[in-house]
Amino acid sequence: MKIIKGTTSTVLTIAGFDPYGGAGIQIDTKTIHSLGGYALTATTAITAQNSQGVFAVEALSPKMLHLQLSTLLSDIKVDAVKIGMLANASLIEVVVEIIKIYKLSNIVLDPVMISSSGKALLEADAVDVMVKDLFPLCTLVTPNLLETNALLGTDYKGGKEESLTMGEELIRLGAKAVLLKGGHSCEEDAVDCLVDAFGVTCYSNPRVETTHTHGTGCILSSAIATELAKKMSLKTSVKNAKNFLYEKMKISNALQLQYHSSDPEKKEPIF
Ligand code: PLP
Repeated sequence: MKIIKGTTSTVLTIAGFDPYGGAGIQIDTKTIHSLGGYALTATTAITAQNSQGVFAVEALSPKMLHLQLSTLLSDIKVDAVKIGMLANASLIEVVVEIIKIYKLSNIVLDPVMISSSGKALLEADAVDVMVKDLFPLCTLVTPNLLETNALLGTDYKGGKEESLTMGEELIRLGAKAVLLKGGHSCEEDAVDCLVDAFGVTCYSNPRVETTHTHGTGCILSSAIATELAKKMSLKTSVKNAKNFLYEKMKISNALQLQYHSSDPEKKEPIF
């Protein structure tokens, strides 16, 4: 058999393990492969979670995270990186060191801080380290409304005008570009605003009424990383990723897991 030599875009996801399969490493892998990339994964923490929320978190040791990353990166070239749940300051320091040693680029950081069920996914004293040491190394940081307000101590509610100010504040803290996600806002449409040194560009899609919302941030950030890995510009990557998430959400009701309870508040995976 003739072996066809070509290059498949590789995306490294550094994130938490979600046994439920709708967030973290698992959904990142599904997203990256759906968009034609190849996912390499490094796990920061194991969680215990289901449709009712995150019940336990156990971080891996910095040594084990370092070994996962250095073992992969000393062998394989990566085109882009998605960073999700980082759990604590020691793991952030490992990621910072690895980015510098292996000169990684096209880095998308989803600054995961708290699950929608209220469980802390990043220790409080790690936030400053993430902002100071990691933000400046990333191509894009993708906070949701709650994370933006937690990072800036504000009460931002979404909208284009304010997003420019919020984005500029986050850039002043060290980010190169910021995608302020409006999924949690009360606006009619789901509007995300990309703020960089050149100004603000907003992307809008109709809001999808569904209980399948678990892992939206993970899907968006890993889709952006995959598009960057395919050499798309940042703006095109954000647009394509947002459309990918929208199309997946529109058909997410087709995913019919059987639950023991009929709780209408449950959070279901998107795909
Ligand atoms: N678990 C892991 C491993 C995650 O990375 C995240 C979010 O990024 C969550 C849980 C929280 O997902 P959600 O807010 O959709 O419950």
